[in-house]
Amino acid sequence: MVLAEYLIGIICILLFAIFAFKRDALTEEGTLTAIIIGLLVFIFPAAPIHGRIWFSLLAVFFISSFAVTKYGEAAKEAVNKQFAKGSTRDLMQVFANGAGAALVAVIYYFYPLPSVFLAFAAILATVNADTWATELGVLSKSKPFLITSLKQVEPGVSGAISRFGLFASAIGAGLIALSVVLLVYIDQIYFGIAEVFTVIPGGVFNFILFVTFFGIIGSILDSVLGATVQVMYYCKKCKCETERTEHVCGKKTVYLKGIKFFDNDVVNLVSSLMAGVLAFFTFVVMFGY
Ligand SMILES: [Zn+2]
Repeated sequence: MVLAEYLIGIICILLFAIFAFKRDALTEEGTLTAIIIGLLVFIFPAAPIHGRIWFSLLAVFFISSFAVTKYGEAAKEAVNKQFAKGSTRDLMQVFANGAGAALVAVIYYFYPLPSVFLAFAAILATVNADTWATELGVLSKSKPFLITSLKQVEPGVSGAISRFGLFASAIGAGLIALSVVLLVYIDQIYFGIAEVFTVIPGGVFNFILFVTFFGIIGSILDSVLGATVQVMYYCKKCKCETERTEHVCGKKTVYLKGIKFFDNDVVNLVSSLMAGVLAFFTFVVMFGY
């Protein structure tokens, strides 16, 4: 990578960070975390799939989640207040969505294999699918049901899924998969590097299917973990379940169920890592590397 590319990359990362902070998409600490993740993802991967492609994919995730979060924000305000933290992502939320991607970028520096890149794409497809399902799923007109018991629940409950939410997650995952292919082709046109997809067994079409499939799987895993092990609290005053230790009404909540440190952020991180690992091993078993 030449010096100019480093400079352009770092400027892009800072511009994204300033934009995200100014538009209340990220808190101060969330912005710093995002900058570190952006730098890791941009600097570590080298040939055949360079950091600029990895970072661009991260940018697609950022722009797409920003868009779906802002879309119909007013309509979702009541639901957000009750169950989660609101739409400005803090340190832990950014870490939960970006740590898996950054980790795989560093692994790719040592093992630049197609399967490792696929794991990265699957992780981003999962977090994007999950963001789409979460942000748009609550707008669903029909009541969602719990993924484990299939009982009807209120929108916004962890582990709640709806047909509309599943559709949204498929679009979110598919968007990442398509972006991978487009970005690699654009890179080939501008930089004339070796045909990346000729070294990926199975070809472009299968690659898109793979990434979309594992993004949806990761998003479903997220719902299963959300419905089973995720910690939930109860507000005695409002007589309702919440993910918060202090309810929006100001009253301290009491522990209800789940594993104590397993909050929504940990669920996001674990489900995306699981999707990455599953994608990696499936690819290795099918194609050898
Ligand atoms: Zn309350």
